[in-house]
Amino acid sequence: MNNESWRNRSSAAVWHPCTQMKSLENLPLVPIARAEGVWLHDFDGNRYLDAVSSWWVNLFGHGNPRINAALRDQLNKLEHVMLAGFTHEPVVELSEKLGVLTGLGHAFYGSDGASATEIALKMSFHYWRNTGKPQKSCFVSLNNSYHGETVGALSVTDVALFKDTYAPLLRQSVQMPSPDWRLAEEGESAEEYALRCAEALDGYLVGHHGEIAALILEPLVQGAAGMAMYHPAYLKQARALCDRYAVHLIADEIAVGFGRTGTMFACEQAGIRPDFICVSKGITGGYLPLSAVLTTDTVYQAFYDDSVTRGFLHSHSYTGNALACRAALATLAIFEEDDILNANRGRQAKMNAALQPLCDMPVAHLRNTGMIWAFDVVDAPADFPHRFYQEALAHGLLLRPIGNTVYFMPPYVISDDEIAWLACQTIAVLRKVMG
Ligand SMILES: *Cc1c(COP(=O)(O)O)cnc(C)c1O
Repeated sequence: MNNESWRNRSSAAVWHPCTQMKSLENLPLVPIARAEGVWLHDFDGNRYLDAVSSWWVNLFGHGNPRINAALRDQLNKLEHVMLAGFTHEPVVELSEKLGVLTGLGHAFYGSDGASATEIALKMSFHYWRNTGKPQKSCFVSLNNSYHGETVGALSVTDVALFKDTYAPLLRQSVQMPSPDWRLAEEGESAEEYALRCAEALDGYLVGHHGEIAALILEPLVQGAAGMAMYHPAYLKQARALCDRYAVHLIADEIAVGFGRTGTMFACEQAGIRPDFICVSKGITGGYLPLSAVLTTDTVYQAFYDDSVTRGFLHSHSYTGNALACRAALATLAIFEEDDILNANRGRQAKMNAALQPLCDMPVAHLRNTGMIWAFDVVDAPADFPHRFYQEALAHGLLLRPIGNTVYFMPPYVISDDEIAWLACQTIAVLRKVMG
């Protein structure tokens, strides 16, 4: 079987995500036969450097020997058991570890990122209801935010392409100015702009906090907005305002958690602790779907009661799946054993140096936070994202621009040679597309 035959069978049988299926006539699928480290191999003998970590999930490379070994061991013990009324070793150990890492606790599990968002929104609302403030039922998010695409999560997402069609199904939520530093005025620093956005948040909350359950945001980097980066001062202010107005702060660390911004969690860079943290994506090293929401003792205690309905009656069939939890434990062990956050600082410096030549090209806002890089292409042609994506594949690179923004979010196992190659191929692709 070659690429062509898998492509045809897939188009006929699979409805692919985030895809107008008719576009596959011109944008052929890439069937992947196997993968190792940062490399994806197709059925025709080509390989592609996975520079976006397979939609931001992979941390330590494909086919990681240590995660593979942990999963094999777990397979011989327990693959899954329902988590209502039962428990197991990987879910207990993972919850303890996540508690230490986040400073929160009482890990509640889902499968995808969007289900974590739903859980956090429902828990926040239910907390206020249990504490006698049922009118606090609205949510605030940032302009261009992305929190997932199930109906509740889409309600706090602000990406028109995903949202507009479904508007009649969604609950109203309010969006505040994004501290994305690209929007700062000339002469205004990223920090000054962040503080100006925080003032706008203050202006809204002062009049509306009585109806607001929570502010949900992506700390430091708004991923789907095109890797919009902002100053941690905004998070500090948002925390202070949420405290002042008795509004929960939900940190959606689904994309930025697990070292992506340079610290284990992005909130650490602002020295703040949210009321809820949502994690997913990298949590299993990119192996299995798993998400979790952790919260404070205060929130937890408001549900702890003799009354059943004051409890959090939410569930998913695969909640706390043993294999997924074990993959997550293996992933966290690699962080410790290999001192990953420290080692990534070296990778970050190498990548920043390798991308320097981009400064002489028609690009704006070359930016970096931890292990995330992005730049905006100036005067890009209308079909830029598709053309760049296709040309990148032809150059052995998996890169998927968001509008005119090209970004890199590579697995943490990328070598110096691979970094140099990635930068050099990207420049070649850009020349070709803009040529
Ligand atoms: C990907 C993402 C989600 C949704 O996660 P899914 O697993 O795709 O449902 C939510 N929030 C952020 C910030 C994300 O990047």
